[in-house]
Amino acid sequence: MKIIRKTNELEQILVLIKDKGQSIGSVLTMGNLHDGHLSLIKEAQINNDFVVTSIFINPTQFNNETDFSSYPKTIDDDIAKLEKIGCDLLFLPEIQEIYPGDLLKQNIVNNFRGILCDKYRPGHFDGVTTVVDIFFSIIKPNASYFGEKDFQQIKIIQELVKIKNHNIKIVSCPSIRDDSGMSLSSRNSKFTNDQSKIFNQLGSKIYEFINFCKKKSSNINLDNFKKQILENSINKIDYIEIRNENNLDITNVSSKARLFIALYIGEIRIIDNFKLY
Ligand code: AMP
Repeated sequence: MKIIRKTNELEQILVLIKDKGQSIGSVLTMGNLHDGHLSLIKEAQINNDFVVTSIFINPTQFNNETDFSSYPKTIDDDIAKLEKIGCDLLFLPEIQEIYPGDLLKQNIVNNFRGILCDKYRPGHFDGVTTVVDIFFSIIKPNASYFGEKDFQQIKIIQELVKIKNHNIKIVSCPSIRDDSGMSLSSRNSKFTNDQSKIFNQLGSKIYEFINFCKKKSSNINLDNFKKQILENSINKIDYIEIRNENNLDITNVSSKARLFIALYIGEIRIIDNFKLY
């Protein structure tokens, strides 16, 4: 696997790939790779001739310095995992390479904003769309692969591609989950044993509720479920909501809907979503 740190070097390599008529798939990550990330890379490999994975902890999408500086970093393990699955190229830029000047973020997308994570992490999605736009402009992939775990992010990136006229197919890939049914997440590598137990119990409670929603199908009320979650050593709930998966409007019917959650176990923020149909 090639490991490239400089933008101009990457661009030169990718021009040669494109000149050969080969397709490029990209997977953008912040590292601490797990099976969720690897599933995106495998999907990209099935559908493209050449796959670029990036690892870049993007400073402009964090809401505070501690969260940014404490983000898990496991670059040697990540490289080993990428080598093992046969990724073609790892783009591993320094911050200076992506933000040559100040750490500025642009407000590019306004649809699907003001709700869910945007309400609780103001500016986060401006950071995300800014960095994804930069990466898309450098890599110019034919297709880019994103996880449904970050469902609102996919919606916003689909808007970004339209607004910025990127000729890139956005492919959404299902969440890879652990035995408790919760999505794998880099942040979970920071759990203590007790927190892991709470996380697993949370999974059981959520799946009980999903089964209830599937049976009830309309007029679903979240109050009782929220109460149960708070009893389960959850520090803080940002949101627990049911929304239609096409327009992200609030709904109380299960058809075409997902349960969206964002909450804290200790200081660790968990986000996930679950199909209710
Ligand atoms: P991150 O490194 O957290 O920025 O994630 C990079 C990409 O991997 C994003 O498109 C995420 O949605 C995706 N991803 C993260 N966790 C999972 C998971 N458990 N299953 C599938 N995709 C995931």
